[in-house]
Amino acid sequence: MKATRIRDCERRLILLEMLRNRHDHPSASDCVKDMRKLVPSIGSSTIYRHLGELTDSGLITEYRPSKGPTRFDAKNHDHAHFYCLKCHALIDVENFKIQADWPGSVQSKSCIVKGICDGCEKINNL
Ligand SMILES: [Zn+2]
Ligand SMILES: [Zn+2]
Repeated sequence: MKATRIRDCERRLILLEMLRNRHDHPSASDCVKDMRKLVPSIGSSTIYRHLGELTDSGLITEYRPSKGPTRFDAKNHDHAHFYCLKCHALIDVENFKIQADWPGSVQSKSCIVKGICDGCEKINNL
């Protein structure tokens, strides 16, 4: 007898849960690694498709840093990101403020600040 196949919507939900439990903004290949632990039979093209669907539906956000792969974030509230140019860490920053005369009604705010993270600064100063 064949094992019951997990349906698409269940796999999408498992992927979303996995992303919500990670705070380091994984890349698609990180998602493939993690998903294979949970659903060993899943193909990487399926995971890429689900990432696209979750992004299109607004449940997750994708970030394209100037270097390296696209990163995914399941946090939906307004928050900023600090991007480390050395180790490529994308770190959440809460309570950021951008004051401006926006030429319209603001729906959501996001921003990426680039620099060298504290961890890399420490290594630099050794
Ligand atoms: Zn760093
Ligand atoms: Zn984030």
